[in-house]
Amino acid sequence: MSKAFAISIVCTLREHSHRAYLVGGCVRDLLLGREPADYDVSTDATPEQVMRIFPETYAVGAQFGVVLVPLPESEKQVLHRPKPIRNDSLEEEIAVGHTHKLCVEVATFRRDVGYSDGRHPDEVQFSRDPCEDVQRRDFTINGLLLDPEKNEVLDFVGGQDDLKAGIIRAIGDPALRFAEDKLRMLRAVRFATRFEYQIEPGTFSAIQKLSSQISQVSRERVRDELTRMLTEGHAKRAFELLDQSGLLQEVLPEISAMRGIEQPPQFHPEGDVFVHTLLLLEKLPHPSPATLAWGALLHDVGKPPTFRRAPDRIRFDEHAKVGTRMAEEICRRLRFSNDETRQILALVENHMRFGDVQRMKPSTFKKFIRLPKFDQHLELHRLDCESSHRSLGMYNFTREQIAKLPAESVRPKPLVTGDDLLDAGYSPGPLFREILTAVEDAQLDGRLEDSEDAMRFVRENFPQSSRT
Ligand code: ATP
Ligand code: MG
Repeated sequence: MSKAFAISIVCTLREHSHRAYLVGGCVRDLLLGREPADYDVSTDATPEQVMRIFPETYAVGAQFGVVLVPLPESEKQVLHRPKPIRNDSLEEEIAVGHTHKLCVEVATFRRDVGYSDGRHPDEVQFSRDPCEDVQRRDFTINGLLLDPEKNEVLDFVGGQDDLKAGIIRAIGDPALRFAEDKLRMLRAVRFATRFEYQIEPGTFSAIQKLSSQISQVSRERVRDELTRMLTEGHAKRAFELLDQSGLLQEVLPEISAMRGIEQPPQFHPEGDVFVHTLLLLEKLPHPSPATLAWGALLHDVGKPPTFRRAPDRIRFDEHAKVGTRMAEEICRRLRFSNDETRQILALVENHMRFGDVQRMKPSTFKKFIRLPKFDQHLELHRLDCESSHRSLGMYNFTREQIAKLPAESVRPKPLVTGDDLLDAGYSPGPLFREILTAVEDAQLDGRLEDSEDAMRFVRENFPQSSRT
């Protein structure tokens, strides 16, 4: 999104004798020298007036005073340059997740009145006063206005001092502000994490007091906040703050349960399951694909319920399997899409298999590395090793093998098809899959040369007389 376009909106509104400023996160980011993710403009023009002034607008939230003004076509094309598609690439995932927002949000100065559901104002009252408008915003650093013509900041809430001091402070009475909109509690943690700021003690203790009310926020919104905390860097700090504030116990009790779960020191000198998971989160690349980040968070979620002191050492039998079921419950609860759920579960389910890579038959290994988005599995394994004391032996071995294996040996053209089986007199049914899998495995293991060889293999191993 271009800064120049957002400023041009402010100027146009001013040419029509309205007051208008850049406001909120974009001002904060500009003062910090960061690229804003999106731009917001606030003005004394009503939604109807905004819609009359700009030729193209979307009245998505006109009842709340919000109108979207889209970027002109010419600029959209620049932002929409097609990107080269590379399968299974971490970078591609990241690029798609960070598509630029293509509208500037123009909001009328307003007061929010009554928050009886703990999520939305019951009513908004338009105002002509920018000072009134910023009082409804969440944190002082998000309550700054910028006059782009004079390049002057309007600060009615002490936001500039808090920006300099690195403090997240609620505007007004923190308990009241969090009671109005419980999502703000997660936003406080997210901003403190992103900017490595401290949450002001009064603000933090209000979160501790109200943390159980986070359940009133929709699960999608909770999920989106958590995903941002996980993928924007310093995720370890985010989860420490969630833990200390009591929010973790509410939104992800399964992660809270990791605290104090001892591990065998020979494999995990770093400490308990919670410590291990946080170390891993800290090492997540950022930006990071959401599924990798959630896979990392949940990979050992099955450990607390499977903890056992065996005679030789602490064990977590089948923790990947148990964890996969738990992760499924969590993904459903947080309303992840089916695609995301599938990938997160695959990461949890397969994370222990790297221990076996050197013992795998070629067919098993090839099928393993054919898992969708295998680079995420590999990356999770690397993070897992680096967050405990395990060597990178299996990681390096896997990478070397992948580099050595030609693509056609990993995904060869099938030597036998269902049609071939029909031609050979086999009747369709569940047996087909069994035969085709057996042929493919033999092919991947290098035991079959060509189709003739493969049909001989079928006739020998699946004689038709024995099946009828
Ligand atoms: P980001 O960089 O994540 O976009 P942001 O601060 O810009 O951070 P937005 O969600 O884009 O956050 O919201 C823009 C502005 O609207 C905020 O800076 C804040 O002033 C206000 N705002 C957003 N959500 C809330 C909320 N739940 N309660 C109060 N004010 C909010
Ligand atoms: Mg924003």
